[in-house]
Amino acid sequence: TTTRPKKILIIMSDTGGGHRASSQALNAALENLYGDQIHTDIVDIWTEYGRFPFAEAVRTYQFLGKRPFLWKLSYDMARFPPTRRWAEVMANLTCHRSFRSCLEKYEPDLVVSMHPLCHHVPLRVLKRIREDTGKEIPFATVVTDLGSAHPTWFDPRGDLTYVPSDVLRERARARGIPQHKLMQFGLPVRDAFWEESSDKQAVQQRLGLKAGVRTALIVGGGDGVGKLHDIATKVADRLASDHHPGQVVVVCGTNNKMREALEAHAWPGEGSGVNVRVLGFVSNMDEWMSASDLLVTKAGPGTIAEACTRGLPVILSSFLPGQEAGNVPYVTDNHFGLYRKKPRDIAHECCLPPGVLPTSELVGRRKGGSASKCC
Ligand code: UDP
Repeated sequence: TTTRPKKILIIMSDTGGGHRASSQALNAALENLYGDQIHTDIVDIWTEYGRFPFAEAVRTYQFLGKRPFLWKLSYDMARFPPTRRWAEVMANLTCHRSFRSCLEKYEPDLVVSMHPLCHHVPLRVLKRIREDTGKEIPFATVVTDLGSAHPTWFDPRGDLTYVPSDVLRERARARGIPQHKLMQFGLPVRDAFWEESSDKQAVQQRLGLKAGVRTALIVGGGDGVGKLHDIATKVADRLASDHHPGQVVVVCGTNNKMREALEAHAWPGEGSGVNVRVLGFVSNMDEWMSASDLLVTKAGPGTIAEACTRGLPVILSSFLPGQEAGNVPYVTDNHFGLYRKKPRDIAHECCLPPGVLPTSELVGRRKGGSASKCC
């Protein structure tokens, strides 16, 4: 007899690039382990099934990500019990029915949340389905943050919560997740990061970079946030003025305005020995990391975990208040990177000889500091 594949529904929202990247990682790992015994769907449930204003989550995140003060305000409002409760009630009132139609469409055997705002309404819907039909659909959470996490990640009504670090395991316990519902694994990173990185010079050539030249990779998450313009120009100018042959790769993600501004910039000329590449959203981050000697990034958990797998030293240039604050000590205390706020200081670090910055090879060997391949 043939049994139908088990259906897994991963719910998330494309706020930034990390939730989708981790969802793809989990999907790849499940396929790898179970082949066609399972079928996985990944759904941005707020964008596809939410109602106004909740359906605007992605655009709101892009707007707030560039305005840290407003971001912190909304982050705290979602933490403060009365405003959080109000938002949950409103979300349930407006989106319960459409979320239920999502769950009825996909008919999952398991729901996995990979987003901090995908708990309250989905869990209410699952409870109602159970009451109406008697069908029990288990619900798991995979936390895709590293050093800090919003309280909405931790909902004791779920069946299992996966955390990637000691800090978040303790946070989950403090938020009422019982020990038997808690599992600790690394942060899921996409399958391209599961293999050792290949020969750096070969990757540089494949990507059209100069081979054997010191390379700094500058990124700002999926939305290309942070002072990418300032950082990239300061690093390129500093390399040129120090007569350091080097190259700078700037990944702007979905931030087209930033990409256009950087493409139009007057970079140091050919004679300076400095090569600059400006890119939009790339689907081969593993290769760009393999081709680089150091990474400058905002403190995004996904990017940090990926850099760990490449042994790439990290300079953190900024963090989203609240959500990413804990990722800074995660990197600096584990000795695989530095935090430098000023573009001028970042440029200085980028011009130091190779080997001066600590490398992230250290982190894989530390308990709880692992960004292991996948959960
Ligand atoms: N990313 C990517 N291509 C890009 C920019 C980013 O694949 O052009 C990926 C990056 O490799 C990481 C994720 O997007 O997996 C960003 O996640 P992170 O947690 O660092 O930050 P977020 O964008 O979620 O705030």
